[in-house]
Amino acid sequence: MLPFARLTVIGLGLIGSSVARAVKANMPSVRITGHDADPLVRARAVELGICDDVTDTAGASVMDADLVILCVPVGAMGAVAADFASDLPADAIVSDVGSCKQSVADALAAVLPNAMIIPAHPVAGTEKSGPDAGFATLFKGRWCILTPPENAPEAAVERLRNFWQRLGADVEIMDARHHDMVLAVTSHLPHLIAYTIVGTADDLEGVTQSEVIKYSAGGFRDFTRIAASDPVMWRDVFLSNKDAVLEMLQRFSEDLSALQRAIRYGKGDELEALFSRTRDIRRSIVEQGQDDDAPDFGRKH
Ligand code: NAP
Repeated sequence: MLPFARLTVIGLGLIGSSVARAVKANMPSVRITGHDADPLVRARAVELGICDDVTDTAGASVMDADLVILCVPVGAMGAVAADFASDLPADAIVSDVGSCKQSVADALAAVLPNAMIIPAHPVAGTEKSGPDAGFATLFKGRWCILTPPENAPEAAVERLRNFWQRLGADVEIMDARHHDMVLAVTSHLPHLIAYTIVGTADDLEGVTQSEVIKYSAGGFRDFTRIAASDPVMWRDVFLSNKDAVLEMLQRFSEDLSALQRAIRYGKGDELEALFSRTRDIRRSIVEQGQDDDAPDFGRKH
């Protein structure tokens, strides 16, 4: 039996449209209602046929839902939930896909005090945005982390687990604060570093922009892919996961200073030891199916 019959997706961008497409592909009998704040996105979602119905207001979209998934930037979650609070059916489960979990859990609990809220984060995405960027297989073989509050009914958590598994994801349950710490180092800090490096290269006076672009295959290009990620989404991630990001950034700055010293004093052994350890981590990521081992990261030329 399917875990849900009537799904509402609010925010029809990369992730929201991918959820809708994946549900259509894997649970075709589920009725999908969509809503987005942007009228152009709503119109495009209708053209693409990714939902059965697209409503002009958040309230109208949730009226008969048994699962509501918020796919808007993390800083907008509370306001969107406040918008539909009075229209939400009492037995509906409210979830989300936000990249930070504690701040979203707090924001949703504040405006939906009586709702069953089970936050989630599919650890899958691309640097693209908008409804055209989504695709049905985005979550296949990727992790989806659920961060249910302590008092969440087990049956509700299992329904949501079942839902994400049907979209092809592997599901893990985690405490929200722990999630935010893990993702600060595996996702948020790498994005911050990429934004910094690309900005630094752009600001250099002695190297022209055309040289940066021409010789980018030396490593820079891979940072530019990450640094092309959605500015609003990432602004909200850093503001919402501030404490964990600042803590990781402190650790990172100390390790970077140690590397700086090793280079200055010609400590080749230290450099080689670190680079060997990091190469092993890359191997483990490929072995666990979390990336492609094909040359050039499987890029098609
Ligand atoms: P996106 O492609 O920019 O889509 C977000 C959509 O939400 C946009 O169409 C946006 O409309 C709409 N929106 C913004 N505020 C809204 C509001 N108040 N009410 C209704 N709709 C609103 O972004 P995304 O990449 O799908 O990210 C969505 C969520 O997924 C974020 O919380 C992000 O942290 C999480 N996430 C992203 C990734 C990733 O790799 N991208 C991975 C995992 C999780 P506008 O056009 O008006 O902005």
